[in-house]
Amino acid sequence: MSMTVLPASSRVATPMVDPFGRTIDYVRVSVTDRCDLRCTYCMAERQTFLPRAELLSLEELDRLCSVFVGLGTRKLRLTGGEPLVRKGFIDLVARLSRHLASGALDELTLTTNGTRLAEHAEALAGHGVRRINVSLDTLDPAAYRRITRGGDLAKVLEGLAAARGAGIAIKINTVALKQDNGADLPAMIEWAHNLGMEITLIETMPMGEIEADRTGQFLSLSDVRRDLETRWTLTPLVRRTGGPARYARVEQTGGTVGFITPLTHTFCGDCNRVRVTCTGTLFLCLGQDDHADLRETLRAHTDDGPVAEAIRAAVARKPKAHDFRIGLDVAPAVRRSMSVTGG
Ligand code: SAM
Ligand code: SF4
Repeated sequence: MSMTVLPASSRVATPMVDPFGRTIDYVRVSVTDRCDLRCTYCMAERQTFLPRAELLSLEELDRLCSVFVGLGTRKLRLTGGEPLVRKGFIDLVARLSRHLASGALDELTLTTNGTRLAEHAEALAGHGVRRINVSLDTLDPAAYRRITRGGDLAKVLEGLAAARGAGIAIKINTVALKQDNGADLPAMIEWAHNLGMEITLIETMPMGEIEADRTGQFLSLSDVRRDLETRWTLTPLVRRTGGPARYARVEQTGGTVGFITPLTHTFCGDCNRVRVTCTGTLFLCLGQDDHADLRETLRAHTDDGPVAEAIRAAVARKPKAHDFRIGLDVAPAVRRSMSVTGG
């Protein structure tokens, strides 16, 4: 049976609900697999990227995001690879901002490495982006260069200042790495809180084929938290975002710290999200391979109905939980890297 997706203004969208009763109203869309950095836990040094024809065009991205909005998506996060390296990205944000204006969307946001924020912060704010996540693992320029394989920390700091100047709220995402930043995490938290930014620590996840030894990089956030609790009072917050993060307030700084621990805890019960790759593949779970190819459907039909139907059919088989494991002899649970799925 085909269905017609009406324009956002003339429709009250009923959010999608999966077989476990979870409302799916948050979509993360990767707009490119390319990046100007090569973080050791994310990409290979000589990463091969997809041929351009495989990527969704900006028009297709707009169309697909808009179909999701028509299906009750309230929050859209654009990610990558690095979203700000995609040519025309700001135009895409400008187009999608119509859904903020119509009230169909509550939030349009992005996750970025921040290297190009200085150029784009004003435009993003102008198109209704109120909060962004910026990934930054260290404040030491040499360690930053090492982790990102050549990145310039000064550019990110400039970008953060520009975003704050434009009135955009910032959450810093920091991957906890045993050797590279383990000892510096308290200082990073203090720095973020002093600037009025939230910070979320992330455990490395076994995704994609990269050269570095994952088990060597892995740092348990339970250990990090224990260490933080010897310095500060952490008051757990009940805030639930439907995602893998659990939050606490650091009483001494007044700021918030989040912990994303996919390997040691399950967080799937209140999952509210799905992800779309830059080639239009819909993944129902970050830690499972089940997917649906939306690009074929998009390209085969000018009518949005079949695309909406394909999305609904996929959400109807969203798995209950992820399946991550890590160990010396365990291959990545999911072979696509975060830069493909969109973190
Ligand atoms: N390039 C952008 C950035 O770095 O923010 C957006 C894409 S990046 C894939 C999104 C997030 O995924 C970043 O915060 C990054 O640190 C995180 N990430 C990438 N690979 C990861 C891994 N294997 N384990 C945990 N987090 C990872
Ligand atoms: Fe690029 Fe983000 Fe992956 Fe780092 S984590 S290589 S910035 S996509």
